[in-house]
Amino acid sequence: MTQASGPMIEISGLSKTFTLHNQNAAQIPVMAGGSLSVAAGECVGLIGQSGAGKSTLMRMIYGNYLAASGQIVVAGVNVAQAEPRQIIRLRRETLGYVSQFLRVVPRVPTVDVVAEPLLVLGVAADVARARAESLLARLNIPQRLWSLSPTTFSGGEQQRVNIARGFAHGYPVLLLDEPTASLDATNREVVLTLIEEAKARGAAIVGIFHDEGARNRVCDRVVDVTGFTPKAAA
Ligand code: ADP
Repeated sequence: MTQASGPMIEISGLSKTFTLHNQNAAQIPVMAGGSLSVAAGECVGLIGQSGAGKSTLMRMIYGNYLAASGQIVVAGVNVAQAEPRQIIRLRRETLGYVSQFLRVVPRVPTVDVVAEPLLVLGVAADVARARAESLLARLNIPQRLWSLSPTTFSGGEQQRVNIARGFAHGYPVLLLDEPTASLDATNREVVLTLIEEAKARGAAIVGIFHDEGARNRVCDRVVDVTGFTPKAAA
């Protein structure tokens, strides 16, 4: 599903309005005419003050929020108009999303939580587990925890399990929401190295990094989403 050339993410004419159904269907326009292009191997940081629309844009690229108009083409698929099964396939093979919080499924061992994105792609179980274990080791999750469910892990441990899971498969496109938030210096360094490795293998990345040092190091450029808002467009 990946393209040989051309941008991996191509967004144009993007508009989004939230309708508040419980408040007299009030209309909240949050985006008008946004555009963004991200090439393979490039990392773009989204900036703009709180409420500017960074998370909304990420959720639209992932297909969680529907665009009112415009195009969001990810590896050749227009997410803004795709069928649910196309979105599911895109997420499985092409488009990874490291959110801020791990969604813990009870009783699943940590190593399987991390290996799952590879297992659903048909990667052999021993290969998938070996990849999961290598990431858990790099992210300093103690080996004695690998066979336990991450339900009871600390916030920082859960965040690192979530990152390991997000980097298990080599997605051609990656969305990263504050991947270094609340990590200690050692693990922050591991995550920045994982991002650099992903870029080196050609991943196109869009991220929100409040950590300015991290942003300066991994982002090739920044885009201020304030420029996507209706007021800026008017
Ligand atoms: P940022 O990530 O830059 O802080 P957000 O994307 O979270 O900004 O929010 C952009 C704007 O959209 C804000 O004004 C926010 O209140 C509004 N918004 C976000 N999600 C929703 C929603 N589900 N329903 C209504 N308004 C929303």
